[in-house]
Amino acid sequence: KREEEAIQLDGLNVAQLKEIREKAEKFTFQTEVNRMMKLIINSLYRNKEIFLRELISNASDAIDKIRLLALSNSKELDSNPELHIRIKADKENKALHIMDSGIGMTHQDLINNLGTIAKSGTADFLAKMQDPSKSEGLDMNDMIGQFGVGFYSAFLVADRVVVTTKHNDDKQYIWESDANSFSIIEDPRGDTLKRGSVISLYLKEEAQDFLEEDTVRELIRKYSQFINFPIRMWSSKT
Ligand code: ADP
Ligand code: MG
Repeated sequence: KREEEAIQLDGLNVAQLKEIREKAEKFTFQTEVNRMMKLIINSLYRNKEIFLRELISNASDAIDKIRLLALSNSKELDSNPELHIRIKADKENKALHIMDSGIGMTHQDLINNLGTIAKSGTADFLAKMQDPSKSEGLDMNDMIGQFGVGFYSAFLVADRVVVTTKHNDDKQYIWESDANSFSIIEDPRGDTLKRGSVISLYLKEEAQDFLEEDTVRELIRKYSQFINFPIRMWSSKT
């Protein structure tokens, strides 16, 4: 079991990422996503650490979804019966990996969910935040907090984000982005995850503190209070 987890949390190195990027299919982000990313990065640079709250909450949502599916078809869980979240600080690759055994994403899910914003009211929200006459007197952080910054907050701390994901109905894929565009490729390593996702954050120079286990543990404590699934820090020693 530990060996399996070790493989699942084994991050891609710079050379492997480069090779994958060259072969992968390229996509552009929906305009709203670009605007949302700029907004997040410009207004939350003092609250970088909230990325972990967002990614843990997405991991938890993904596990909720597979559990719900399993209520009508218990076989859905067979690919990976364990429901948990693992976090690994990978100093070798200067990356933080957040793994969940949730529902995962199909190729189409990756394009829809990580390339566009489906949330209703996004256009209104962006217009309000970007028009000085309308945003005057509004607390940016509060507004963003209420709207939910979500997945793209990963770019507060990472200059490259890699999502490895396996859904029961599709093969395993790698999605990767530098916040300018994204690409998707079938994972050459095969279906190592069985089911679920690993979000890998290749940390910016100024965010290297998130490679320290103590820092991450403290944040997990802070943000995991209302999460119903076990979250464990994965360390190669224990
Ligand atoms: P929200 O969580 O409010 O829907 P996010 O920006 O946080 O918005 O995430 C966007 C979408 O990406 C989610 O709705 C979900 O479909 C997908 N997603 C993100 N993280 C995961 C994950 N770990 N597993 C499966 N799907 C995910
Ligand atoms: Mg979310």
